Amino acid sequence: MNLPFLDLTRQYRELKNEIDEVIQRVVASGRYIGGDEVSLFEEEAARYASVKNAVGVSSGTDALLVSLMAAGVQSGDEVITTPFTFIASAEVISFLGAKPVFVDIEEDTFNIDPDLIESHITERTACIIPVHIFGHMADMRRITAVAKKYQLKVIEDAAQAIGASIEDQKACSFGDAGCLSFFPSKNLGAFGDGGMVLTDSDGIAVEVRKLKEHGSEKRYHHSMVGLNARLDAIQAAILRVKLRHLEQWAQMRISHATAYNERLGEFVKVPVSKDGYGHVFNQYSILTKKRDELRKYLQERGVPTVVYYPIPLHLQEVFQYLGYRKGDFPISEEVSTRILSLPVFPELSQDERDYIIETILSFFTTS
Ligand SMILES: *Cc1c(COP(=O)(O)O)cnc(C)c1O
Repeated sequence: MNLPFLDLTRQYRELKNEIDEVIQRVVASGRYIGGDEVSLFEEEAARYASVKNAVGVSSGTDALLVSLMAAGVQSGDEVITTPFTFIASAEVISFLGAKPVFVDIEEDTFNIDPDLIESHITERTACIIPVHIFGHMADMRRITAVAKKYQLKVIEDAAQAIGASIEDQKACSFGDAGCLSFFPSKNLGAFGDGGMVLTDSDGIAVEVRKLKEHGSEKRYHHSMVGLNARLDAIQAAILRVKLRHLEQWAQMRISHATAYNERLGEFVKVPVSKDGYGHVFNQYSILTKKRDELRKYLQERGVPTVVYYPIPLHLQEVFQYLGYRKGDFPISEEVSTRILSLPVFPELSQDERDYIIETILSFFTTS
């Protein structure tokens, strides 16, 4: 066997007729920027997350950037986030001239530890960016409570967590705004880049709409400095088709995760879904002290794995200017040496999953 870590062509083949049809429709319409496909997708995504407003943008990174700007984050402000995430979560903070302030993670969910946030708040703190890593939400109840106490904004980085929930309340509906990515490997993936800002705040929605459109509400009237950060019509049309299948795909991810948990739990630390939390498993990540040996063993037997993330952000070269040192965030650092993500995409077959499980079991029982 030679398995893929993620095979996007399987999903395309399943939906080929529907997707080809909408692509044709957009191409033939001559309307490639904005238009009905984008506004209908915005309505459908807002309804899906039970949030009042949704604005399509060009990527998850841009969703974070324009959300921070709309929330009023400025140069010199401090923004609290986790060091155990993709670079984009913190990059946008620095990009605005604000300062990323990292807070270590919980051992079980790999999400920012709400107990540690308060001690990092200063006069300059403006915002918290919790990241719902791998598809398990951060503890939004406690994070929003701290934010309320200190009057901070909360921008959810839900790039990996569309559809994730706490007590049936979906990601992006807890903070002042929530950000989605439609990067192809995310649970709802476009055929290119795309993203979205979801918010109950009409004020933030209006600002985001202007920011992604050169600071303009009315064509050639510019009230602020903005960006070209729009979602393409063709991507919106494809995403509308895919959104209808999202719940079913999440169930397939969950069933892979459940099977892995049952069979691997004796040998590795399997991912946790906290009580009341709906995990959508954008990644299925185990912890083992034998990570590198296991990874090599699996690779030799045709099972690809990925390390998310090998270097926590406080130790990245780009953030050296912040003055962090090795040892500052022990849990993030430890997790980065032990974590390994297994294939968990919906279209992975049961035979393939069983082969992955058997190969991992043979590693632990023979070595
Ligand atoms: C993918 C991702 C982003 C960025 O999304 P893009 O669409 O690639 O710009 C941001 N944060 C997290 C946690 C991500 O996984």
